[in-house]
Amino acid sequence: MSAFDCLLPDSSEKFCGTCKSVKFSEEFHLRSTSKDGRAYTCKDCVKLYNKKRYIDQREHSILYGLCTEFSCDATIYFSSRLCEDHYYKKVSFGRMGSADYWSLLRDKAYEQKMLCAISGDDLIPGENMSLDHIKPESRYPHLRSERSNVQWVTKWVNIAKSNLDMDEFVKRCCNIASRHE
Ligand SMILES: [Zn+2]
Ligand SMILES: [Zn+2]
Repeated sequence: MSAFDCLLPDSSEKFCGTCKSVKFSEEFHLRSTSKDGRAYTCKDCVKLYNKKRYIDQREHSILYGLCTEFSCDATIYFSSRLCEDHYYKKVSFGRMGSADYWSLLRDKAYEQKMLCAISGDDLIPGENMSLDHIKPESRYPHLRSERSNVQWVTKWVNIAKSNLDMDEFVKRCCNIASRHE
């Protein structure tokens, strides 16, 4: 029996060489290539390491104008922190529930000539570009992923339109305009 065994009276415990502490075996990832079948570093340390690596890569990407999506080194798209593909994938996932519609959203933006479908203002990805559900998501949840129900608008337009459909929104804009004539 070595001095090391004395330190670890229970065989279900293991020493993490990174944080220098004794932990239960379950707190180490399984690794078939190691002698005891467990990783050298505990799960917490692995998590911390990955997080640091992620942050380092993100900072590097921001500094050099590269996509901040992990392991992507394409150049950024307009004012966003993502490349063109990842920009549309992120919006597609966030607004339509799946990243699958990304190329459709990209094509739509170019069909609109990068102009807001409602106000005609310039759209700048990462700055003022926003995806609108023509029939609002809150009232027509089944149309969330419907390709014909989305359009690119500027952020302020999307906020003002809120849960209105096009007719209602235009009517309100007309009411506002007539009060200020
Ligand atoms: Zn550790
Ligand atoms: Zn990317």
